[in-house]
Formats: sequence, structure tokens, C-alpha cells
Amino acid sequence: MSTESHLRLIWLYPDLLSTYGDRGNLLILARRADLRGLPVECHEVRADHPVPTDGDVYLLGGGEDGPQALAAQRLANDGGLHRAVERGATVFAVCAGYQLLGQSFFAKGSKYPGLNLIDIDSDRGETRAVGELAGETHPALGLPTLTGFENHGGRTHLGPGVKPLAKVTTGIGNDGQSEGAWNGRILGTYSHGPALARNPAIADLLLRWATGLNMEPIDDRWPTALRNERLTAIAR
Ligand code: GLN
Repeated sequence: MSTESHLRLIWLYPDLLSTYGDRGNLLILARRADLRGLPVECHEVRADHPVPTDGDVYLLGGGEDGPQALAAQRLANDGGLHRAVERGATVFAVCAGYQLLGQSFFAKGSKYPGLNLIDIDSDRGETRAVGELAGETHPALGLPTLTGFENHGGRTHLGPGVKPLAKVTTGIGNDGQSEGAWNGRILGTYSHGPALARNPAIADLLLRWATGLNMEPIDDRWPTALRNERLTAIAR
């Protein structure tokens, strides 16, 4: 952790990338860190501000095509996220935020360069993927079943430099087979919901990556009830 051992959580570009309650990911991370007695600072960095390079966890949400293209361009010009990743910062990105971390993505019918921070590439799907998303998570991550809500036109292909977050059991995710991707301390997903409210174990994984500390179990009755409600609804 950085300055005076506060965990610095940076939510990038809330003015461009914030659909389907993705702000909740920041709140969940801060709350779960706080419950473990970790002092936290939350920073919301708008697209006309420089990206701080000393964050511990960077969050990117989903967005419509226009804001997504603008966000990718500004992040590339700024360079701060790249420098943070070089320092070993943790990154959690959802949907549009996930796509723009890769080589390229489609928005408004055109191909845009991504940030090349993870080995994924996104193109256009023939249909929009809209609805519940669930999958069996990669065994190396030690996570329970992924649950979420997806709404995207793009399809994402994983290169050899990344592993999938999950194998899809409901919905589309990357391509109907796999969902999300991770490498090192960067993790991307198509799951909204917000993702960390529906998958608190992912929040704890990110906190572990960022701090190197094991996260003590906490009272998860409410998130467990939410997860079970959604998983039961999907199974019907
Ligand atoms: N614009 C992207 C797509 O449709 C991402 C959508 C989103 O973030 N919900 O694929």
C-alpha cells in the first residue's frame, strides 16, 4: 500500500464509464477493506483530470460506445494507468472498461485502439448480449460461481497472455464460452450488477492482490442472499 499505508482506491472516469451501478464496486471495496480495519482513501477521477499513478486499486466501469472511445483515447494520452500497472497496481474493469484494456475494440461501428494492458481483443457481435450472466470461475482464482448482468455488443477474444475469469454457464460473456480475463493483477469482466456486490469474493481477491494480506471472513449473509436469489432465478 502507498501513502501513510492508506489503501488508495481510484475510480477512473465516473463521468464517462459508469453504467448499471458500477460505482457500487468502489463502495463495496472500500466497505470490505474498512471491515478488515484497513484505512482507505477513495478517489473519483474525472476524464479531464490526470490519472494518479500512486493508486493501489483502479476501477473502470461500463459505458456506451461514444464515452468508451473517448475514455480509451484520454487514458492512452494520459499514460498514468500504464505507469500504475508497471508499478504493480491492481485493476478491475467492467464491460467497456474491460474492452478498452485490450488491443482494440469496436464502438459506433469503428475500430479503436485499446490500451494494450491485457492480451484481449474485442470485435462486434451479431447480436447484443443482454441478461443474466453466470459461470464457473477459473480454479486458480479460488472463487465461487460468478454471477452478474451483461449488456454489450462486443465479443472478446483472449490471447495466450491471459486466462478466462470463468467458463460461461448462462449468458454470453466474452464469446458464449468464456467470460472475463485476468493476468497478474489485472482482472476484467462483462459482469455488472455491480459485480462486486454480487461477487464479494472478487472484491476480497482484489484487496488481497493490492495489500498482500489475507482477508478475514466477514458476515456475508446479505451478499449471500443476493447471490442465491439471482442464481436461483437463473436456474429456473
Ligand atoms: N459499448 C460496449 C459494447 O456494447 C460496452 C457496453 C457496456 O459497457 N455495457 O460492447
